[in-house]
Amino acid sequence: MFKGFTRFLQSPGAHFRTLFGPQDASGGHAGPRIIPRDQHPVSRQHFSEPALKVLYRLHNAGFEAYLVGGCIRDSLLGKMPKDFDVATDATPEQVRELFRNSRIIGRRFRIVHVRFGREVIEVTTFRGTHGDDHDDHIAQQSEHGLLLRDNVWGSVQEDAIRRDFTVNALYYSIADFSIHDFADGMRDIESRTLRLIGDPAVRYREDPVRMLRAVRFAAKLDFHIAADSEAPIGELAPLLLQIPPARLFDEVLKLFMAGYGVVTFRLLRHYGLFAMLFPETDEAMAQQPWAEPLIEHALASTDKRIHEERPVTPAFLFAALLWGPVQRRQAALQADGMPPVPALQLASQQVLSRQLQHISIPKRFSMPMRDIWDLQQRLPQRRGKRALQTREHPRFRAAYDFLLLREAAGEIEAGLGEWWTAYQEGDEHEQRRLLEKAGADAAPGGDSRRRRPRKRRRRSSSGPS
Ligand code: ATP
Ligand code: MG
Repeated sequence: MFKGFTRFLQSPGAHFRTLFGPQDASGGHAGPRIIPRDQHPVSRQHFSEPALKVLYRLHNAGFEAYLVGGCIRDSLLGKMPKDFDVATDATPEQVRELFRNSRIIGRRFRIVHVRFGREVIEVTTFRGTHGDDHDDHIAQQSEHGLLLRDNVWGSVQEDAIRRDFTVNALYYSIADFSIHDFADGMRDIESRTLRLIGDPAVRYREDPVRMLRAVRFAAKLDFHIAADSEAPIGELAPLLLQIPPARLFDEVLKLFMAGYGVVTFRLLRHYGLFAMLFPETDEAMAQQPWAEPLIEHALASTDKRIHEERPVTPAFLFAALLWGPVQRRQAALQADGMPPVPALQLASQQVLSRQLQHISIPKRFSMPMRDIWDLQQRLPQRRGKRALQTREHPRFRAAYDFLLLREAAGEIEAGLGEWWTAYQEGDEHEQRRLLEKAGADAAPGGDSRRRRPRKRRRRSSSGPS
């Protein structure tokens, strides 16, 4: 790690905490710990042109301007930041006036998006502490302590203690390139600790999504969650049921589509958070031994693709996450006498509609999910023109990958996947041979694979060979 930074951490007095009304050694209130440019490794070279442009323009207009959050945390950890959050004392309207390419978004949390081509810089006005004199338009809290709206402006110091984790409350000043540390975030970076600012239970009640963020950052950064910050999670996990499904959809994408899905999944289960997001999947995993490996395989392949910078779709992952409940439901319907095809359709519909009460999966993902599921019934049926028709389905590739997952997880016997692999790779001659084999192996209706072969074999063994 950067020499000056390490020296700073070892310097005497670097360990007193500056949280909440920080006190210096003499008992008086101290400001942030300021780490000058030559004692930290964060350089302007880590930042994008647009991010610097926004900072300088705010600064030149006489406002305070800092980079804060993930970009500073990640730079300190030697990772290239992926997006930039700016904090300022300019109000959203003032920011809007400075940048033509900007717009104010959000109600619960008003911020300004400044757009430069594909890059968006998020500019946030310092949030203040809520007093009694503020009316409901700017700040609002539910009876459970949930923060419904948070638009009270304040100082940078107030802004810092309203942020979630100490390592997310490090401010890089464009005025002198120093880092302002309000909550001992530097120490926690060094010890790789995620620690909520303030009383963890209060902060989780204000915004239960912070529990998911704790897990997400722990997985992504390979940090541990401080004991006091992890302790309340088990008890408070059900508060996630109050979060609007649209927000949870965004969070779930961040949890599972950032390249650390397997670790994240395990941590979510460890803390009892997964059951709040996917209750029926949680039940299915307790009943069906293959349901958990199926999800792990799907996440592992998603992680791999992300690290290889190949495209991924949430539809495939959601299809895997909900396949356990779909199969359980389908089995129950078939046990009641419904034939397999309508049973799968009804099961898919029911599982999806129940899941939507928790996480709103947009149609553009739920439609392909249903195709992937439907195709699972068509993949075993390969006789006549069926294989060719299935092969030409726009969702064939995803359905085939899904079939491989099911085999790898032990839900179904291996074999069919290999057949489809050979079919795709084979020339016309090979495909014809495979179709004959499939005709010999499969009977209509799919899995009654045993019935025909004997008959055929008997016939062929009686012929000239
Ligand atoms: P990344 O962008 O890598 O996911 P990040 O820390 O930048 O991580 P963002 O969601 O971009 O996360 O948020 C930017 C910053 O805003 C955070 O670092 C944190 O300081 C603050 N923040 C975001 N969400 C919350 C929240 N729910 N409660 C308190 N502070 C938050
Ligand atoms: Mg960010």
